[in-house]
Amino acid sequence: MVLALHALSGAAIASIMPQPLIALPLAFVSHFAFDWLPHTDYSVQAIKEKRRGAWLFFNIGGAVLEGSAGFAIILLLLGWQPLLFLAAFLAMLPDGLWVMQSLFPKIPFLKQFRAFHRKLHYRGERKIIKTLPFDVAMATILLLVVLSA
Ligand SMILES: [Zn+2]
Repeated sequence: MVLALHALSGAAIASIMPQPLIALPLAFVSHFAFDWLPHTDYSVQAIKEKRRGAWLFFNIGGAVLEGSAGFAIILLLLGWQPLLFLAAFLAMLPDGLWVMQSLFPKIPFLKQFRAFHRKLHYRGERKIIKTLPFDVAMATILLLVVLSA
């Protein structure tokens, strides 16, 4: 799932359950549930293959920009609420750890975490024309949850 949607899911969880001890771990764990659903994703192939240049720049730069857009949407809709931002960050963190594993493949924890993450990840159709409707539906649902809380 793209990072902005993970950020929105974390914010949605924290907005309906504003107790940090429940919302923050749930936001982190929600990442795996949302990854299990059909969705559009980034490729970490360029990082794994240690490619440099434009391909790597667009993959990582695009993900950073898009994840920042998730924070910006939360800020615009709900204002500065540290719990929501922390929950959004934790909901995106597993993908950050996945990228870290690609950059540092010999760290055992990251290797185990990636294997776990991958096991729960959606493996179906990856063409954007097939997955985009799921992303749009999920974004709509998450925005409605965030706005109604
Ligand atoms: Zn993920």
